[in-house]
Amino acid sequence: MNDYKHILLAVDFSKQVNTVAEKAKAIANKHQAKLSIVHVLDNIPMPDAYYGTVISLTENSGDPLLEAEKAKLMAIGEQFSVEVSNQWLLWGIPKQEIIYVAEQQQVDLIVVGSHGRHGIALLLGSTANSILHTAKCDVLAVRLKE
Ligand code: AMP
Repeated sequence: MNDYKHILLAVDFSKQVNTVAEKAKAIANKHQAKLSIVHVLDNIPMPDAYYGTVISLTENSGDPLLEAEKAKLMAIGEQFSVEVSNQWLLWGIPKQEIIYVAEQQQVDLIVVGSHGRHGIALLLGSTANSILHTAKCDVLAVRLKE
């Protein structure tokens, strides 16, 4: 098996985010791969942004909601030793923007949770399912139980 070189962890800040992140980190360590993380903002209003806008983590936007989301992403980044330059915050539709970052950054493995904020109503969450069907690289869906 070829080693993975660049792993992208998709985080939605749900309760079980650490379970998914720990798995991604362990695989990255084992393969000596670069680890990046992505969060897609789809739950706060951003009237002036178009889908796919990359939000700077270092410039203060003055918007408390946005700054709170940045802080959550950066806290996970710090916890799992991901450099700020490998942390991605975008505005848009999660399943689309995660694929976009994966392709732009030449990722060879995307790690998602089997479920997220939308619960376990579906056998596989809709974001995870869509990524599994559209990604050009490998996808690992970490099985999460309620
Ligand atoms: P879902 O399909 O929404 O139940 O979520 C399944 C998984 O997709 C989550 O565990 C995350 O890994 C990923 N995901 C869902 N929403 C987002 C988001 N807004 N940003 C980044 N990753 C997400």
